[in-house]
Amino acid sequence: MPAAENTPITRVHFAHLWLDGSWRRNAQVSIDAQGMVSGVIESAEPATAGAAVVPGLTVPGMSNAHCHAFQRALGALTQRRCDRGDQAANKDSFWTWRETMYSLAARVDQESLKAITARCYLELLRGGYTSTAEFLYLHRLDAARQGELNADAAVADAAALTGMQLTLLPTLYQYSDFGGAPPRAGQQPFVRSTAQFLEDWSTLRNRYPASGPISLGVAFHSLRAVDLPAIDAVLAALQGDERCRCLHIHVAEQVAEVKACIRQHGLAPVALLAKRKLLDARWALVHATHADNREMEKISASGATLVLCPTTEADLGDGIVDCADFLNAGGALAIGSDSNISRSAATELRLLEWTQRLVRGQRNVLATSAEPAVADRLYAAALRGGRRAMGAAPAGASAKLRADFVTYEPPAGDWQSHVANNFLSALVFDGAAVQARQVMVGGRWVIRDGRHPQEATIEACYAEALQRLLAPGV
Ligand SMILES: [Zn+2]
Repeated sequence: MPAAENTPITRVHFAHLWLDGSWRRNAQVSIDAQGMVSGVIESAEPATAGAAVVPGLTVPGMSNAHCHAFQRALGALTQRRCDRGDQAANKDSFWTWRETMYSLAARVDQESLKAITARCYLELLRGGYTSTAEFLYLHRLDAARQGELNADAAVADAAALTGMQLTLLPTLYQYSDFGGAPPRAGQQPFVRSTAQFLEDWSTLRNRYPASGPISLGVAFHSLRAVDLPAIDAVLAALQGDERCRCLHIHVAEQVAEVKACIRQHGLAPVALLAKRKLLDARWALVHATHADNREMEKISASGATLVLCPTTEADLGDGIVDCADFLNAGGALAIGSDSNISRSAATELRLLEWTQRLVRGQRNVLATSAEPAVADRLYAAALRGGRRAMGAAPAGASAKLRADFVTYEPPAGDWQSHVANNFLSALVFDGAAVQARQVMVGGRWVIRDGRHPQEATIEACYAEALQRLLAPGV
């Protein structure tokens, strides 16, 4: 049974709606047959004919620009000190976490991937996201080669079940390190040739037609895992293909990766991409944690989107991006739930600002004199950047927005006494990470009064999948 209603509602009345940077009271939104916003009337009479009334605080749904849904099952498995793996430093790190991740990836099958992804997407909807870019390197599309797992179908099924808007990013992964180092055992399931990747892309193109709900893009895992000739070959093959909406890559997440890139190419990763003219508005660069100031300037000047995943970067001990200058220079910034250690958009934005405060010993670092409310500035920036990272038309005066809305009803005492220009501050900087009560995606309600029509099934399948996957201990 589909989770969402089939036809978009045509009109909805929000008690408080934040749109284009300001709060509107009694906003009546009209929605067309394609699920796009066709008009907004302010100070409308409540409950005019046919309009549902939504109380609370409503904001546009956030785009989750970087997600590996299956890693949702990892969070609790990686919080004990582990001394294996990172032999150089003999300490627990991203590289030791990665071994546990490989172990889980090797166990995931069709049903468990769908179950984990559906549970993750349901939580992401409750956490304020209405669209997700799934960076998918679990593929095994060819049953003759790899067997049972058809990862894109599992993720697409989960998106359909939950109502999440999906951008699928099939991911090219070939090596374990710079210089064409052969893949390690745990990476073998992710590997395919460039020719196979392009063949699989054609399969996806037919499986998910332009008229359907799923958007497509391409991901290159990293410059560690894909060399420059392979990137060039994929881009040449897909040149002019309008189905490929965006290009994503992990970049400069680890110091060791930056050092290896300099050893191999004489340049750090972002500088290398820029030199090879591989940065423009189609690209989304995930992390860039250890990019230097000049590289950050190259990203902002190119129009590429910087995708930050603050809770995952904190959980993995990656580091902190100093991004105030980047934002002030007009750089495009998006957020991602990445490993899904958090599934809350507000939590990502809060940690993004708080890490800047901790590093600088200042407050409201990512605000400006012209935009003093840091929550408002970050929410607006991440909305714009998220849409850009997914290849959606940039928001402009004439661009239609998809009718994606998320409504929160925090306890009245937490916000009703505030003036409207503090509503977003109350949402973003409340550590309780309040969950959405109403969620609309493309003009269809997917969560109403806190309930999703498929939540009992989703919870039961998730519990069963984890019991099966983790039974021997990971
Ligand atoms: Zn990632």
